[in-house]
Amino acid sequence: MSFNPADHIQDLQYFGEFGGVNPSISDSSTYTFLAAKSMIDTFEGNLEGCYLYSRHSSPSNLYLGQALAALEGTETANVSSSGMGSISSVILQLCEQGDHIVSARTIYGGTYAFLKNFTPKFGIDTCFVDITDLQKVKESIQENTKILYCESISNPLLEIADLKELAKIAKAHGLKLVVDNTFSPLQISPATLGADVVIHSLTKFINGTSDTVGGVICGTNELIDSLRNVNNGASMLLGPVMDSLRAASILKNLRTLHIRMKKHSENAMFLAQKFEADGYKVIYPGLKSHPQHELYKTMYNKEYGFGGMLTLDAGSLEKADDLMELMQKKNLGYLAVSLGFYKTLFNAPGTATSSEIPEEEQKQMGLTNGLIRFSIGLDNDISRTYEEMKRCMEKIDIMVKVQS
Ligand SMILES: *Cc1c(COP(=O)(O)O)cnc(C)c1O
Repeated sequence: MSFNPADHIQDLQYFGEFGGVNPSISDSSTYTFLAAKSMIDTFEGNLEGCYLYSRHSSPSNLYLGQALAALEGTETANVSSSGMGSISSVILQLCEQGDHIVSARTIYGGTYAFLKNFTPKFGIDTCFVDITDLQKVKESIQENTKILYCESISNPLLEIADLKELAKIAKAHGLKLVVDNTFSPLQISPATLGADVVIHSLTKFINGTSDTVGGVICGTNELIDSLRNVNNGASMLLGPVMDSLRAASILKNLRTLHIRMKKHSENAMFLAQKFEADGYKVIYPGLKSHPQHELYKTMYNKEYGFGGMLTLDAGSLEKADDLMELMQKKNLGYLAVSLGFYKTLFNAPGTATSSEIPEEEQKQMGLTNGLIRFSIGLDNDISRTYEEMKRCMEKIDIMVKVQS
């Protein structure tokens, strides 16, 4: 039997305090004790099922964490107030001064900035590599390397990481393979392929309503316990705690993730195929022309498809801007960063979400100025959307057509 993450989530059962079908929200920052002794034991983490203070843990956050651990097939999970709150905590927990990280070079701009500019302050250095070049990855590993870091589907270029092979490399060198799976919840289950830690920005597909930021770290009990340790845990001491009301709200949205992901994937596949047939330069993991299309197929949970993200090269920043403004005017989507919304979202990552990456490095990794990143929405009639988009593309006359 293959792993089906949506079934794992479905199999959880929650009841509220008064028999409600949703778990009760604990709307408190602190908790009372009948016996003073229990308070000490709870603080030291020796008393299960008791709550002390909501930065440490809260029922709503634990429920959401449990559901996300089921999603990723890990022992447990810890939610945070943002994806960056999860990413920075894991990295600072797993590394000490003098340690080294090997990271994919095409990653979320904030993660890139954190590794490039922030962690060096603590003597933690990162080498950025082309993650699809496994030889390069091996060669970049040093004595002091602790983490191999990548995204399953990279932002914004949609490169696919060979997680099984990367896990083997990590194991052989005693590294932790940390995977940001934000672009592919349900489609790819990194932990089942050998990843040690799986991170999500919940802000995106998982919450899906663009009304909050949030993050999660999925991993072993040992890792999550260390992150929550009151004496030296990064999630505890840096304080990126999620609010209980938000945790409850995200858990409710998680209920429909499988339905949404199928529709995002179906719509993105439709548009990608049409754009490609029209001769435009489109990147989508579901297209045979994608360099890692076959690799993706060896890793994915088939029924969730190839995801909701695609990119289109408009040829220049001017054309990209004109096209995005026109599409917004025609109400085909919003010119906005982020992803996973019911509505299509688009932006030019070179100047927005990946602007932390210097221009020279953007060029090296193939991130062109005219590249538009689309998060395809849940449009009911995607062929209607396509016809209107095509009119916009013809009107702006985006030039970059692939020679056939
Ligand atoms: C948005 C995003 C993040 C950061 O998450 P926040 O919730 O904004 O902190 C990290 N990784 C990827 C791939 C993202 O898209």
